Amino acid sequence: MTTSIVHIPGSMDCREKLLKNPGKTYAVRPLPDIRKIAVHHSLTRTGSAESFARYHIQHHGWPGIGYHFVIEKKGTVKWCNDLTVKSYHVGRENGLAIGICLVGDFRKETLEERQLAPLMKLLRFLCTEFDLRAEDVLGHNEFPDYSWKACPCVDMQVIRNMLGRNSEHSRQLASDTGELDNLLSPALTFDPNHLTTNPGESVIAAVNRLGLFDLGEVKARNKTFDLKKPSDKPVSVKVKGPVEIVPDNLKKLIHALERQDYKVFRNDTRPYNLNIVGIRNDNAVPNAFDDEIHVFWKYQNTWNTRTYKITTDPGLACSSIPSINRELPF
Ligand SMILES: [Zn+2]
Repeated sequence: MTTSIVHIPGSMDCREKLLKNPGKTYAVRPLPDIRKIAVHHSLTRTGSAESFARYHIQHHGWPGIGYHFVIEKKGTVKWCNDLTVKSYHVGRENGLAIGICLVGDFRKETLEERQLAPLMKLLRFLCTEFDLRAEDVLGHNEFPDYSWKACPCVDMQVIRNMLGRNSEHSRQLASDTGELDNLLSPALTFDPNHLTTNPGESVIAAVNRLGLFDLGEVKARNKTFDLKKPSDKPVSVKVKGPVEIVPDNLKKLIHALERQDYKVFRNDTRPYNLNIVGIRNDNAVPNAFDDEIHVFWKYQNTWNTRTYKITTDPGLACSSIPSINRELPF
């Protein structure tokens, strides 16, 4: 556990440069209090650490910017507050969380590699420094009382999977060399056009584990490769980038379909390239609308989804109400 942090690799130290609210200061905490990392998006397509600092002070009257880090659109990481500062970003969990804000409105945009790579690098550094696990890295809306919040609109499970994937390797590297910068290399080697398996894993298993890639596409790009065969050594195969973030509620469904070799329509250049899937409830009670139709489509790299209650168990009106049946005129 670190007692003080003076340098954060890959970040621009803006702690002294950002606007502060004269006469106001945030409370401070000891570093060991830090147990979580919160990921936010700015809900704006553009912006910078400087503009958010101004906004938080002038509109909210806060002592300074609410985040510890801002990752701007081009991937610049700005270090905004000492990690001991209990700034405002996750309400009553402020005392134990570090706040990282990605500039963007990920309700409408997709997180791209230029911001994802520095995010992963920063998360790896902080997780190692504070001895945090992938599970301690949460989206804003995964904190208590914030499930209503559309923040960060990034699939945090994918981020945690990516973080967990290299953590053992990272720790080993760090302890072998004692050099922290080596720790950061796995994040830098993340390549959205290639997928690398874990030892003993098949390519298909890796695709399912990561939830980042279109299995159909992976198959098409690696026709001569046995994707089902586990390999002792890590294998790298071609996949298509950029990273597609699939919403949590669709991920299971898409995986279930692709595992059974159904085609999922992902061409997003025209609207309403629909996938229509019926899911039957185990319960076969007639006249109960307990089954579901899921309609989902991708447009401009954003998944849209609708769910409708239906029934696939036909009604029994005729046989169960014989008197009506007899009186029908046909
Ligand atoms: Zn947030």
